[in-house]
Amino acid sequence: MRRASGAAELQSRAVTLPFGVGAFGWDGVAATAYKQSHGAGRGMGWRGVSRHPLAAPPGAAFELRYFEIAPGGYSSLERHRHVHVVVAVRGRGRALVGRAVVELAPLDVVQTPPFAPHRWVNDGEEPFGFLCTVDARRDRPQPLSDAEWEALAADPRTAPFVH
Ligand code: MN
Repeated sequence: MRRASGAAELQSRAVTLPFGVGAFGWDGVAATAYKQSHGAGRGMGWRGVSRHPLAAPPGAAFELRYFEIAPGGYSSLERHRHVHVVVAVRGRGRALVGRAVVELAPLDVVQTPPFAPHRWVNDGEEPFGFLCTVDARRDRPQPLSDAEWEALAADPRTAPFVH
């Protein structure tokens, strides 16, 4: 059964979370809105992203989420002080991290350093899914600075990520 996961439910969850291979999901974990309101800032648009909260243990300083991006989808282009450690697990995708473009296949690992601009993109034909560890208490995502935006837009490798 899939149902919404509130913070209290997430913290009181049983220690095991069985994975269902057929539907590529976890028992009792429902997709939630990718972003509440981070405003309409430049680059903050996104398409086809679902967020699946997997664990937020009581007293822990971290949370673990699974994100999935549908074909043609992308996450917001953002920066923030907190870091992500991402492990690709389904399909293939690409990411902008700082000034680099990285290709991601299952079990590839990538970090986003503090304040590095980042965006996850699925330009393939299958869902692209990844696990993402993040601080439980964290600063809000913010749009890129003018200088960051212009530099990424001027570089042919990174320009496709800037919109
Ligand atoms: Mn982020």
